[in-house]
Amino acid sequence: MLLQENIPLAPLTTFKIGGPARFFVEAKSRTEIEEAVAFASRRDLPLFILGGGSNLVVSDAGWSGLVLKVAVAGSAQRSALQDGRALFDVGAGESWDHFVAHAVAARCAGLECLSGIPGSVGGTPVQNVGAYGQEVSETIESVEVFDRRDGQVRELCNEACGFSYRSSIFNTTERDRFIILRVSYALTPGGEPHLEYADLKRHFEGRDARPNLAETREAVRHIRARKGMLIVPGDPDCQSAGSFFKNPVVSAEQLEDLKRHATAKRLAIPSYPALEERHKVSAAWLVEHSGFARGYDGVRVGISHKHALAIVNRGGASAADVIALKEEIQQRVEELWGVRLEAEPVFL
Ligand SMILES: Cc1cc2nc3c(=O)[nH]c(=O)nc-3n(C[C@H](O)[C@H](O)[C@H](O)COP(=O)(O)OP(=O)(O)OC[C@H]3O[C@@H](n4cnc5c(N)ncnc54)[C@H](O)[C@@H]3O)c2cc1C
Repeated sequence: MLLQENIPLAPLTTFKIGGPARFFVEAKSRTEIEEAVAFASRRDLPLFILGGGSNLVVSDAGWSGLVLKVAVAGSAQRSALQDGRALFDVGAGESWDHFVAHAVAARCAGLECLSGIPGSVGGTPVQNVGAYGQEVSETIESVEVFDRRDGQVRELCNEACGFSYRSSIFNTTERDRFIILRVSYALTPGGEPHLEYADLKRHFEGRDARPNLAETREAVRHIRARKGMLIVPGDPDCQSAGSFFKNPVVSAEQLEDLKRHATAKRLAIPSYPALEERHKVSAAWLVEHSGFARGYDGVRVGISHKHALAIVNRGGASAADVIALKEEIQQRVEELWGVRLEAEPVFL
C-alpha cells in the first residue's frame, strides 16, 4: 500500500472543489484495502471511501483522516444464468461508462440508458444510479463487499442491498459499513434497448427501424451532452456533481395541492407515477419556478446554462459557496411550494 500525505482532493472530484486529505491511499486490491483500513483503525483516523468523485462536495478544510480511493480493476463475463442472462463481474474501480460501452459492444441489454454517467462501478449501487428509465438495481445480481465491522468479505444479493429511488443500504442504514469491491450485473444478450423515456422517444421519432443498443447509447450521450450532464472537457457547465437535488416523492394529496398551487399561477407541474401510489415531482421544475433559472449566477457558483438541477463551479468556487446556494434554493422552493428539496451529492 502506498500511503500519501496532504493530497488535494479537488482534482479527484468532478466539482473541482475541496481541501486536502491528511492521508490518502489508492488501493488496487483487496489486500491494499485491508491494509488501509487497518492503518486508519490503528491511528483512530476517520476513513472515507472515494470512487470517481462525481457525487461529492468536499469541504474547504478537506479531510483530517484517511481517504481510500477504491481502484480495484478487472471485468469478466461469467457463464449465463438459468434465465439466459449473462453475468459480468466488474471491479469497483473500473470506469462506469467504459463498462457500459463494453456491455453495449457485447450486445447485452440492461445498462444502455445509463450511458455517460461519470464515476466508478463501485459508486453505482450506493445511490442506485438511474437515468432515462433504467436503474442499476434492475440488473445488479450481487455486490461483493469488505465488511468493516468484522473484516470479512461478503457477497450481498440484490434484495440485501435494499434498493429504492437514489437509495440503498450503502447510503442509509449501513452507511460507512461496507467497502464495495466488485459488482455483478446480469444483462440480456441480444436484448432490446429500453426506450420508455420521453426524451429518448422524441430523439428517435419518425424512424421506422427500432434503434439498437449502440444507437440508444449514442442518443443518451447526445441528450446528456445537451443538458450538461456529460463530462466534456472544457465545458464549464459540467463542473458539477450532476443533479444537485433528488426529485421529491409525494403522496397523491400533496401532488393535488402542488397542482392546485401551480394552476393558480397558470403553470403545470410535471409529475410521474412512483412506487406505492406515490408520485415523483420534477425538482428541476421546482428550482426553475422558484427564481433560479438556467444560467443563474451566484458568487463563483451558479446554475448550469443547460439544466436547472446542476449547481456548477464557475471557477474558484468553495464548498461554502455551493452550500450557500444550495440552502438559498431549498429555502425558496420550500417557501413557494411547501416542498423541502433533498440534496443528492454526498457532503464530506
Ligand atoms: C455530470 C454528472 C452527471 C450525473 N448523472 C447522473 C445520473 O444520471 N444518475 C445518477 O444516478 N447519478 C448521476 N450523477 C452522480 C454520480 O455520477 C453517480 O452517483 C456515481 O455513481 C457516483 O460514483 P462515484 O464513483 O463518482 O462515487 P463518489 O462520488 O466517489 O462517491 C459517492 C458516494 O459513494 C461512496 N462510494 C464510492 N465508491 C465506493 C465503494 N467502492 N465502496 C463503498 N462506497 C463507495 C462514497 O463513499 C460516497 O459516499 C452524475 C454526476 C455528474 C457529475
